[in-house]
Amino acid sequence: MFTTSRTPDNYRHKLGAGVLLCRLTAVFSIVFASAAAWLAVDQHALLENMEDLQSRTLPNSMEHQRLARNLEVLRLEGERVLAADNPENRRQALFIVTLMAGHPSLLANEKARNLAIETEIFLTRAAQGSRIDENIRDEWTRISRHLSLTADDISVDGINLAREDVRQMNGLVEQTRQKLHGAVALVLGFLALLLLLIRRMILRPLQQIDHALSDLRQPGSAVTLPNYSLRELASVREAIVQLHGLMQEHESTRDDLQKLAATDVLTSLNNRRHFMFLAESELTRAQRYGRPISIGLADLDHFKHINDIHGHAAGDLALKAFADIIRSTLRHSDIAGRYGGEEFAFVFPETTPQEAVALAERLRAHLDAWVIPLKNGGHIRLTTSIGIADASAQALEDALRLADEALYQAKASGRNRTIQAKTTQLPLPLGGHTDNSGHSA
Ligand code: GH3
Ligand code: MG
Ligand code: MG
Repeated sequence: MFTTSRTPDNYRHKLGAGVLLCRLTAVFSIVFASAAAWLAVDQHALLENMEDLQSRTLPNSMEHQRLARNLEVLRLEGERVLAADNPENRRQALFIVTLMAGHPSLLANEKARNLAIETEIFLTRAAQGSRIDENIRDEWTRISRHLSLTADDISVDGINLAREDVRQMNGLVEQTRQKLHGAVALVLGFLALLLLLIRRMILRPLQQIDHALSDLRQPGSAVTLPNYSLRELASVREAIVQLHGLMQEHESTRDDLQKLAATDVLTSLNNRRHFMFLAESELTRAQRYGRPISIGLADLDHFKHINDIHGHAAGDLALKAFADIIRSTLRHSDIAGRYGGEEFAFVFPETTPQEAVALAERLRAHLDAWVIPLKNGGHIRLTTSIGIADASAQALEDALRLADEALYQAKASGRNRTIQAKTTQLPLPLGGHTDNSGHSA
């Protein structure tokens, strides 16, 4: 069962996803509120400026225009006083001049008031005279020009007043526009940072965890997840690492068990069950492709005597020694197994029965020449009888039966020899005994 030695307490010092979200929300709120407040200050200033323009600057400007217009009327009425052809018209025009010179708008402006007084006095004097001479006209020309220029100046002053306010407003609007851009950039920057953080702290780790989980199914894989700063992800990582460890353990235990189930404990050769499984698949493959294949059975000669004379432990030692000789003599492609007590079986893939007999003879000769030393200073010498059968065209059981029959013949004809089963039995040129049926030992 999957158990974990760690608890979530191990990651209490790490940052939780909920806390991270709260902190990010708080920072975003502060950034957003600051940007809004920053903009509100400018908006307020803009509104104040507009109010000022409406309540002060525009009336002031209109007042200037009215003053300029009144000065112009004064000038025109002055023209009429001088141009009048009879005393009645002159008096009427002078009356209007007096009226305009006393107008409150002119009196409110010092420059206009002085000029209006000067104009009224001049025109009154001129009107009292009997005729308008050249001097009077020259003087009037000066005053008239002065009136015109003053009216223009006052008009321009009024326009400039509004222009200054509009310029200030434009400045404020431009400033607000720039601040708005800044605020938008700030919020976008924060959002980009937020996405980057989410990608770095959540999305990428999730992808890595996904890959690690997929890799867990691959045998011999390694978990290479980095340490995560988020508590929940760190817990998942730890669980994956532990799961991986358990799977590795399980895998190696399974391998060991498989090996154990397939191996003979004493000789470390394939046990009979596994040998049969391997032999069956080799035969199937060879027969499918029409390839040569042979089967062999070896039985140690008079093994009972070994046990009887030297003891069971020495018999075991002898069995192990024979297994070592098998391993060092046969080819890598050959399959060997402990078939019974002191009986061994072989599969020789890609090998004709004649070639298999040669291989078996080599094995038999090695054993024949081998001296197995014992702990008590003594030694054992062993021989084996071997039966070989062609397995390229028959079932495994039939091939084994034929090999067993050949082995029986080898025993019957004197032991320490190899016999090939069936009709293809050939006399062997190797240095063993040869019996009447063409067997060699
Ligand atoms: P033959 O030449 O006819 O084969 O004679 P044999 O004595 O070898 O044949 P037999 O079948 O009479 O005796 C086989 C002996 O092998 C009997 C048994 O005690 C011994 N034997 C079987 N398995 C083991 C084992 O694992 N260890 C030991 N030490 N002896 C074993
Ligand atoms: Mg025997
Ligand atoms: Mg036997």
